[in-house]
This record gives sequence, C-alpha cells and structure tokens, in this order.
Amino acid sequence: MKVFCSTLIHETSRQSPIPTDLDSFREAFLYVPTSGEGSHWCAQNLDGVDWTEILKEQGHEAAYGLLAGAQPSRPISSKTWKYLLNEIRASLRAAMPVDFVALSLHGAQVAEDVDDCAGEVLATIRVLVGPDIPVGAVLDLHGNMSERMMENADILLSCLEYPHVDTPDRARQLVELLATQARGKIRSTMARRRVPMLGTYYTTRSPMREFVDWAKSFEDRVNILAVSVTHGFPKADVADCMAQVIVCADGDPAGARRVADEIADRYFSLRDAINPSPLSSDAAVTEALKARSGPVVIADIADNPGGGAGGDSTHLLRALLRAGARDCALGMIWDPVAADFAAKAGIGARLPLRIGGKTGAAAGTPVDFVAQVIDASDNAAQQAQGMTAPLGRAALVEANGIKVVLNSVRQQVFDPACFETLGVVLSACRIVVVKSRQHFYERFGTIASRVIYADTACDESGDHNLALTKIARPIYPLDNPPFDAYGRRWG
Ligand SMILES: [Zn+2]
Repeated sequence: MKVFCSTLIHETSRQSPIPTDLDSFREAFLYVPTSGEGSHWCAQNLDGVDWTEILKEQGHEAAYGLLAGAQPSRPISSKTWKYLLNEIRASLRAAMPVDFVALSLHGAQVAEDVDDCAGEVLATIRVLVGPDIPVGAVLDLHGNMSERMMENADILLSCLEYPHVDTPDRARQLVELLATQARGKIRSTMARRRVPMLGTYYTTRSPMREFVDWAKSFEDRVNILAVSVTHGFPKADVADCMAQVIVCADGDPAGARRVADEIADRYFSLRDAINPSPLSSDAAVTEALKARSGPVVIADIADNPGGGAGGDSTHLLRALLRAGARDCALGMIWDPVAADFAAKAGIGARLPLRIGGKTGAAAGTPVDFVAQVIDASDNAAQQAQGMTAPLGRAALVEANGIKVVLNSVRQQVFDPACFETLGVVLSACRIVVVKSRQHFYERFGTIASRVIYADTACDESGDHNLALTKIARPIYPLDNPPFDAYGRRWG
C-alpha cells in the first residue's frame, strides 16, 4: 500500500526563553518536500521513528511529507507554523491518492496563535483525504491530547515508557493497525478520558511501572486495539494539559469507554504514589556524598533542555562548589561563548571563565572560576532516541575538582558520550550531574550506583513562578480532590 508519512516534533514550553523559528528545525532535522531541502533526513530514525524501515518491513511504499523536529522551546512563530503546515498540505496533495496516513507528532506543540498544532495537522489532513482513508499518529506521552485530534484521527497511539524506549514499537503497531483498517478488516473507534492531574511519572519506578504494564495488558483483550496512557506537558499551558487515557477498540465504542474508565480510575488513585518528590540542589548533593561508591547520578530536572529550559543554570554547579565536592562531572551547560573561549585557549590552558546563567532568571547567576581545559571538540555528538545528535563545539573544563562539559547546540543529556568523548571516566566520578528529567535514564541507569532527582525550582533562587493560565481547572495538585470534572467526581 502507498502510505503518506510525516513527522513533526516540537514540545512547546511557554516558559522557555528560547524562540522557535525555521532555523530551530534546521538545527535538529528538517526535510522540506516541495524544495527537497534536507532530503538526507528521509530513511533515518527521527525521534525514534524510521518510516522507511517500518514501511519496508510491512511491505508498504513510503510517500514522504514534511519531516521536522526542533528542540523544545517557546511557541513556534506564526510564520514558521504556516510554512510547516503548508508543506504538509502540499506534500500530501502531491502524494494522493494514498491508502493511509501515518504521522509522528508530539502532541504538546503550540504555535504563537495555535494552541493545538497536532489537532490542526490532523484536521488539515482529514479535509484532504476525506473520511474513508485511515489517518493515525504515534505521539509522545507528554502530548496534550485534544478533542480535535480525536475527531480527525482513526488511531492515536502514544508511547507508554518514560524514557520513551518503546516509540519504535509503537510506530510499528500504528502502521499495522492503519494497514489492517485500510484493508477493511477492523474499524477503529476511540475513547478518551481526561484524568485531571499533572506530574512527572517515571515508568522506571514502582508503582508507575506496574500500572503501565497493567494498562498495556488490556491490548490482549478481544477488540482492544491499543491503549495509551499519557502524562501531558504542563508548560505548554493549554486547556488539555493533563494526564489522559486513550483506548482504540474494533467497532466497540462502549468497550473502549469501559476500558478507558477503568484505567483512568486507577491512574487517578495513584496520583500521589507515582509522583516523586525531588530534592533541592543542596539536599541532592548532600545525599549523593553519603554514597559509598560512585557514580551517583543527579538529574537536574528543572534545567532540562528537553522540556524547553535553557540548559545553562548554575544551581547544581554552585551546590557542588558549596559542598566542596570533588571528583565530580557536570554536563552539559549550554554556553557557546564559554565553550568557544575554552576551545580556542586549547587543551591544557588555564583561563578565567564565566559559565552559564545567561538565558534567564531561572538559570541563576553565572559562575566565574579559573579553569583548566581538559579537552575540546568541534563536532561533539551523542546518541539520542536513535539519532546521532550534534552538540556543536564543546569543551571539558575543570576547576575545584569538578569537570564541566560546555556545549554549543542546546540539548539534554541522553548518552554518556556527552562526557566520555571528552575524556571523562564516569566510573571514576563520585557524582555525575546530568541536565535531563528522565531520558538520561536509558543509558545512565545501568552505570549509576544511585539516581537522585534534583529540582532546582525547590531552591530559593529557582523559578517558582509556574504561571499556568490556560490549563483547565480543577486539576491535581493545583486543586485538592474531591472535585467534579468531566462529568464525574474525582477523589
Ligand atoms: Zn516526552
């Protein structure tokens, strides 16, 4: 079958200091079908989805639409959004007729004047292909699912794991279901349940681990095609920011609703147990220093570029310095100027450096120290969700027994390569601080003697002012249950 496939990934944070334009997509990946720009991105794994591989495996022919992804940042400029949407429209028109449409979308993408970009993409496609061509999307579990998305898709399917290690399998599952629907063998019907709560739910920890396994097991039931449990992304600040459950069933709307209700009930009942309590910077360092063996990995969850943060906050660096901790590594501080100074000074040089604290108040103030340049690279890179992700000019500098990785292409830490390619021996470190909320866990979980989550928003100097104005209320933990929402009582 001929399949129109397209990828559009952006997790939007209204609190991010980083603007988003077309160059933001060029920095990560951008294939523009009408001009052919970036055609090398076709046939590659992009944020966990390689359309060429998946469609080939299942015997389909790929018709490529737009492929675009950018690091999380502020709402996309109106001009860029119109351009991207027009590319999807034009490439689909050129590809038609197609047997079905398979998309990889984030679900928490916001443009300056559009709160629900995924809904707009799906609605645009539905208008073009009509009601009978199956349309589906694989989504990030941090997406904020909307009614418009539901109305314009046959199958919506999120990853279930955080870190999102199951995205490739979920994309395969999506294509299988869409192809089966295109052959007329199933008729998908979907139910969505909004679960009025927000939080960070690590599927690597109990009881979220057991809950996700239990929810997924419903897919073994007759007629249940797919179960999605999403977490939502609060910083997108739209009405649908919240945890949700989406169930696809074969011609059984009542069955889909029943399963969605059962999963939503249990999800809400776990709201306290699945939400971890991170430590402040100082408490995290104190706790880490108690460990008998290293490396203890401290995740700087507030300054996660993967959630739109600047990646240059200095709170944890200051906490290490205050504690007099030595044999530590911290990465990556996004500071193209400091990385450039260090690289130009050269390996072995000692120089005064002003590090970080530039992108906004949440980043804290810069740290000044005289540092030694241990290593430098003009094209450092890491593996990130199946892709080789460039880090730009990068340097490893050391002062007071703390090694700091400076980089030039803003990105969260996914991979020990962020440190190791610059010569850090992680096993010799007492503490390794990574700027990432959870994706680091895939590759650091096995080498860490212990993982500690630190939220610098708990620090006095951190950003407490999460001003969310559009999120529907009531919602836990901003409101305390019991309360009424979505036609029922929660409590
Ligand atoms: Zn995510």
